[in-house]
Amino acid sequence: MVVVMEERATEQQIEQVVARLVEMGMDVHRSTGVTRTVLGAVGQGRPDPGLIGVLDGVHEVIRISEPYKLASRTFKSEPTVVTVGEVRVGGDEVIVMAGPCSAETDEQVRATAAAVRRAGAKILRGGAFKPRSSPYSFQGLGEEGLRLLHDAAKAENLALVSEVMDISQIELINRYCDMFQVGARNMQNFTLLRELGHQQKPVLLKRGISATIEEWLLSAEYVLSGGNTGVILCERGIRTFETATRNTFDVSAITVVKKLSHLPVIGDPSHGAGRRDMVAPMARAAVAAGADGLIIEVHCDPDHALSDGAQSMFPSQFDRLMAELRIIAPAIGRSICLEPAVRSGRST
Ligand code: PEP
Ligand code: MN
Repeated sequence: MVVVMEERATEQQIEQVVARLVEMGMDVHRSTGVTRTVLGAVGQGRPDPGLIGVLDGVHEVIRISEPYKLASRTFKSEPTVVTVGEVRVGGDEVIVMAGPCSAETDEQVRATAAAVRRAGAKILRGGAFKPRSSPYSFQGLGEEGLRLLHDAAKAENLALVSEVMDISQIELINRYCDMFQVGARNMQNFTLLRELGHQQKPVLLKRGISATIEEWLLSAEYVLSGGNTGVILCERGIRTFETATRNTFDVSAITVVKKLSHLPVIGDPSHGAGRRDMVAPMARAAVAAGADGLIIEVHCDPDHALSDGAQSMFPSQFDRLMAELRIIAPAIGRSICLEPAVRSGRST
């Protein structure tokens, strides 16, 4: 249930409504909009809308028909901006996160971080704990990988996102990174999501390989209902009957989610396509469709990468893509990081 307070509702009136909802067995999440306060009441209680509607300062009581509540546009109509380190995701600017699939060596991480930063990425990506289909594949460097990523991100003034696969890794990732990545395979690891709901740092929640949009938003709800309002959704391709690409990159999901939810949504065309020659077209499509950002795998020597080399871009391809996005983003009213020469004040 959503309780929309009157524009001039006093703090005391708001607190009275909160207290009544809590009494009725609900958890109350408060969202302070530009003109009004909105209260999202979630939980297993069954509050009577009639009893709430007559309280002082209440403008309207709305039942949210969707099974996800805090993630819905009914609860919050304005888009949410999630801050990752010092980078704002969900505002006017299209934010690009880029880096290797996995951290492998100091040199590889540093060279890749420098290349993506020069091209205009704002957030470094890289896995230290890797969810691999085969137990015999490279599983990541663990804490050593996080250290390499952290040092490279710091050197390049980039924020850092890395995957958390298990509750036991939360403390470590929290120490080194600015955002937790929940991978496609863990989208319905509800104990992990609940625990991330108690963290301060934001969560990048990838869509599960065979998850519906509703299931994906319900997973976001697990994090939000724990009190962590920083959730960024990521479309990374789903499994369909099609075998020509690694996954089917669902561009339409970006527009659907933008309609249903106030949370920022980004695209991952690398896992979506699975082939580096298809990453740029899918990235362009995602931005044109309204994605708030992208996460892209880039490797300084992708042919020798220890994971996902075939879908990792060469830095030169990534440079070209960023130049293309600098044309697409303004065409749909968005901004994007300027090209390096302009950023450094040199004329081209
Ligand atoms: C990754 O980002 O490298 C990754 C494993 O992604 P996903 O969970 O989308 O497969
Ligand atoms: Mn990968």
